[in-house]
Amino acid sequence: MNGQRPCHAPMDQFEVADGMLQVGGRPLSDLVQQAGGTPFYAYDRRLMTRRVAALRQTLPEGIALHYAIKANPMPAVVQHMAGQVDGLDVASAGELRVALDAGVSAADISFAGPGKTDDELAAAVAAGITINLESATELERLAAIAEKIGHRPHVAVRVNPDFELKTSGMKMSGGAKPFGVDAEAVPALLKRIAALDVHFRGFHIFSGSQNLRAEALVEAQGLTLDLALRLADDAPGPVEMLNIGGGFGIPYFPGDRRLDLAPVSEQLEARLPAVRERLPGVEIILELGRYLVGEAGIYVAKVVDRKVSRGRTFLVTNGGLHHHLAASGNFGQVIRKNYPVAVGNRMDASASETVDVVGPLCTPLDILAQQVDLPPAQPGDWIVVYQSGAYGYTASPTRFLGHPEPLELLV
Ligand SMILES: *Cc1c(COP(=O)(O)O)cnc(C)c1O
Repeated sequence: MNGQRPCHAPMDQFEVADGMLQVGGRPLSDLVQQAGGTPFYAYDRRLMTRRVAALRQTLPEGIALHYAIKANPMPAVVQHMAGQVDGLDVASAGELRVALDAGVSAADISFAGPGKTDDELAAAVAAGITINLESATELERLAAIAEKIGHRPHVAVRVNPDFELKTSGMKMSGGAKPFGVDAEAVPALLKRIAALDVHFRGFHIFSGSQNLRAEALVEAQGLTLDLALRLADDAPGPVEMLNIGGGFGIPYFPGDRRLDLAPVSEQLEARLPAVRERLPGVEIILELGRYLVGEAGIYVAKVVDRKVSRGRTFLVTNGGLHHHLAASGNFGQVIRKNYPVAVGNRMDASASETVDVVGPLCTPLDILAQQVDLPPAQPGDWIVVYQSGAYGYTASPTRFLGHPEPLELLV
């Protein structure tokens, strides 16, 4: 035990009853039975609903919320989120099918991502969704495909801005990037759009992800609005939509604090009237993935073995990096840090020993938590990894070593 180490933000979104973690009001032990064993992911739909409602309370009136499906594309989750948000953002033809299956109207779906294939562009044109253009050549391919199909495509320009979202987990703008059209090249692209038989819808400016600092988000959003208004001078038609990105982070690691959205909201409140006056009828969109669903999910694995190696205690579980690459520290992290973990069936016991929680794979990378304080756990106990509702199952190399796939439950 070391009281000096930074702590995880409290994981109090899930209730506990009789020492058992509850998901969606149901005890973990029931969910294990229902899943037919472990490992599995469980997502709490009430928490997702609550998060969207809280966000709408905080943000100024009239901001549209989109869910970026890649965070968690489980069809049942997408279906649930479709009923909570104003639109969906997809990044592949596969995600597009999931979005359409959820019954979302084409006008509320947009498709961003570099390297859209001709088949993906054709699917998007046929569906009538908005295609966020990532390059001038993509526009030319799209126009040719649309002419063949006989539908006028709806396009927005994804802009690679000349600034970045500072201190983001993942930067996706500023400098040379595969994402979007460099801001300085956008006026020429808008001219080309005007010359083609395509319907111009607006701009998409996404500058980064997983940010916990309100002041960084405020700065990037301010610059985003400035840039959008500048680019609008050259727009070939009314700017119907302005997607200002998202990047709202959630606390994963010791020392991370929950994002305070008040400053973000204040700036939007202050600036939006002028934006709306300059761009009448514009729909202003925030696109969020992990912020909406990440905290609503857990990953559950069973302790298979407990062993001591040269003084260090290892809990060896049946789950690991093949199901949850991000928790193992191998999904974009520079320095490995622990996700918050718990022993789901011993929630009332005190964390009286320091252990390493590892998976069954024959690689030293297969770590779920290193040197964490947990209640003494035995084989058969359930290790819970919090903050696992986004970038879990579908962001993991499930074929690696040939173990069974994890189940997903939406509770
Ligand atoms: C990945 C991605 C998102 C979602 O990011 P989160 O960090 O999950 O909120 C949103 N928009 C675009 C363009 C993305 O690529």
